[in-house]
Amino acid sequence: MLNIQKSTTIPNSLLHQPTNGIDMKHEYRTGDQTLVREINLSTILRCLQAGTALSRAKLATLTGLNKTTVSSLADELIGRGLIYETGLDDSSGGRPATLLTLNPNAGQVIGIELGVDFISAILADFIGQIIWRELQEIDPADSQETIINYALTLIDKATANSQLTNIRLLGIGVTLPGMVDTEKGILLFSPNLQWHNVKLQQIIYNHTGIPTFVENDANAAALGEHTFGVARQSRNFIFLSIGVGIGCGLFLNGDLYRGAGNIAGEIGHTHMDDSNRPCRCGKRGCWETTGNQYSLIERVRALLDIGRATVLNQLMTEQNSPLTLAIIAQAAEAGDEASLEALADTGSAIGLGIANLINIFNPEMIVIGGAMGLLGDYLLAPITQTVQKHTLSQIQQQSQVVLSQFGPTATVMGAVALVIRAVMTQPNRVERMA
Ligand SMILES: [Zn+2]
Repeated sequence: MLNIQKSTTIPNSLLHQPTNGIDMKHEYRTGDQTLVREINLSTILRCLQAGTALSRAKLATLTGLNKTTVSSLADELIGRGLIYETGLDDSSGGRPATLLTLNPNAGQVIGIELGVDFISAILADFIGQIIWRELQEIDPADSQETIINYALTLIDKATANSQLTNIRLLGIGVTLPGMVDTEKGILLFSPNLQWHNVKLQQIIYNHTGIPTFVENDANAAALGEHTFGVARQSRNFIFLSIGVGIGCGLFLNGDLYRGAGNIAGEIGHTHMDDSNRPCRCGKRGCWETTGNQYSLIERVRALLDIGRATVLNQLMTEQNSPLTLAIIAQAAEAGDEASLEALADTGSAIGLGIANLINIFNPEMIVIGGAMGLLGDYLLAPITQTVQKHTLSQIQQQSQVVLSQFGPTATVMGAVALVIRAVMTQPNRVERMA
């Protein structure tokens, strides 16, 4: 683990957490006492974030800090209400040691996922347990003002629910479907919403007075998986968000990789299809034209058009619904062959892109989430088969494809993680309890 107490210069790798406006612009900073203490506080929190309760002695072993320092840091984190003492560890056989753990009631967080045709809102506690949630469907054709007002109304509802609990609100995290300037809090461009240069952080802060953080959706979801999900122990993984588009959050060497211009991860627009189907980005043959939710629906439609026997028509009539992912999921569950065939073909198309990612990045894990996560159980087998066919065998053995444990809520959990990670990085931003 990190032994940072002794160094006077803090390497960049320790500082490159999602900064969200926190000043960490320099490659290297001199480690004055306050900064060193803050980093050590952060290190203790991160150890506890891995999930298990730990004694002060165990924390000293993990961090390389001495026991007196760990005790002083623990006292400060207890004073700020971020951790608490819980039970005794008598596993060593000696005098039982008091265990420390994150305090779920250290504070609450509002997470907002602005999707292309919905807004998802949750109120969660400090360890990511959901207290309240609501989903608002939106029409992408609605004006920007209308859609932002929906989001502000949901934030107001979440705030009201938080106030009922009397627990402090730590912040609001917002994920956006497009390119985001996280430092300035601006949505630079969303191809699917056709929004340009929207100062969302400022708009939300002006409305609420609550610290607000914004991030690209796939990046946020990757942070969510690392903070609360299947990738908590992983330093090299890729979160793949598959829905209307395909995007990825690259978590490499223990941190988010953003690229030179902050827009790394637009994997959906790599060329992968000889049929050269037109893509929404204006180019042709992009991966997402064969692996997104629309391509699945098209495949199912094509099978319906040639008169394949299926329960889909019956399900759509009974539920008075168009062909949706939910209807396809129900049909697949009932063993509908047409649906399963379309899912297998879509899984193969997705697997091809994943094989490329594995060959390039050699990740420990590819985590799949987004709207298509709903169908993950049916997609995983064809994905895995295609991955096995197209990756180098040595790399393949080191990588596994898994489903996000949060399914379609992976991104909104990422919104919550934005705030939690800001607190974890700078625990001093949280006030001491009275
Ligand atoms: Zn494209």
